[in-house]
Amino acid sequence: MPKIKIVRSIEEIIIISAAIIMFATITPFSIYRYLNEQYLVALLEIVSVLIMCSIGAYVWKTRNTQVMSIFTAIFMLAGLVTFNYIIGTSILFWVYPIIMSVYFINSLKVSAAIVTPAIIALLPILIQEKSTIEVISIVVTLIICQLFGYLLSRKIRHQYKIMEELANQDGLTGALNRRAFDERIQFLHNFSFRHKTETEAKASLILFDIDGFKSINDEFGHQEGDRILINLTHLFKNKIRGIDQLYRFGGEEFVVIANGSNAMHASELAEKMRFILESTKISELTTVTASFGVAELHKNEKPNRWIERADKAMYRAKRAGKNRVFIANFDSVNEPKNILNVSHG
Ligand code: GH3
Ligand code: MG
Ligand code: MG
Repeated sequence: MPKIKIVRSIEEIIIISAAIIMFATITPFSIYRYLNEQYLVALLEIVSVLIMCSIGAYVWKTRNTQVMSIFTAIFMLAGLVTFNYIIGTSILFWVYPIIMSVYFINSLKVSAAIVTPAIIALLPILIQEKSTIEVISIVVTLIICQLFGYLLSRKIRHQYKIMEELANQDGLTGALNRRAFDERIQFLHNFSFRHKTETEAKASLILFDIDGFKSINDEFGHQEGDRILINLTHLFKNKIRGIDQLYRFGGEEFVVIANGSNAMHASELAEKMRFILESTKISELTTVTASFGVAELHKNEKPNRWIERADKAMYRAKRAGKNRVFIANFDSVNEPKNILNVSHG
């Protein structure tokens, strides 16, 4: 299995960048203020940098941005308002990039709820230090900045979602593709690694391969073969509850990740799938069957080995006569042993 490259979300990138930018730009200022005996401001600045760097490091390590997105937004804006009152409105211009970032890392409602009070809180100091015309200009540009922040963020999120869907989808059948599978299975492996109890991390693979597909192609044409792959995907996605995670593993081989299922439950599901496929006319020209291999995830098991066990079980089902379900042996990749169902034909 190829090594999965971590693609960081927009939220992660903004929070980590904000930490780096704050560290790089504010630290020299606080050293300067310290040397000029402005101890309180220097201390506040250093504390702010440390907090932001801790948030950045947390997001870098855990990739969890849910709470941190809101916290970062409140922290940056509260800090900005405070510093405007302490050292004056010379640092006001930071409010524009901060507002943009807030809209990129939070939903519209949350962003508006955080940004609006911050702008209101800035008004007294602005009125005190700036002329009326300047205050009006600042308020208008802040509103425009909010509007653009919102529109841009919405557009990017929308396109990101479409791109992600396209990148994870198999072009022919619309099932999830191998890339999505590799990512998911790696996630499950990591999850089982972190969670100690067996029930929390339970998952099984149901791997299946269409029987005699080469003959189907040879006899009825490649187009009919394609149609069968598409119809099979629709059949399983629509007819069986809980099969939202159907992946095309490659060629005429598919895999379902049964979350929360042990080998027994997953093999019951596989048997249901086997029966539905056998008894549904997904081709006008021929009956289509498949052979299934089921493997429950062992604790701390490497994804490759998990797939290998399911694959071996599936090949045993082929060798035993096809159109049947085999469960992978728990402690060996070589000898899957439990024949679950042979009621075919
Ligand atoms: P078995 O029962 O042992 O699985 O035999 P099989 O004929 O299904 O397996 P084999 O591996 O010999 O052949 C698989 C065939 O699937 C060969 C390949 O041309 C065909 N195939 C793979 N991808 C596609 C596809 O996207 N469309 C079509 N029509 N055929 C495909
Ligand atoms: Mg096949
Ligand atoms: Mg095959």
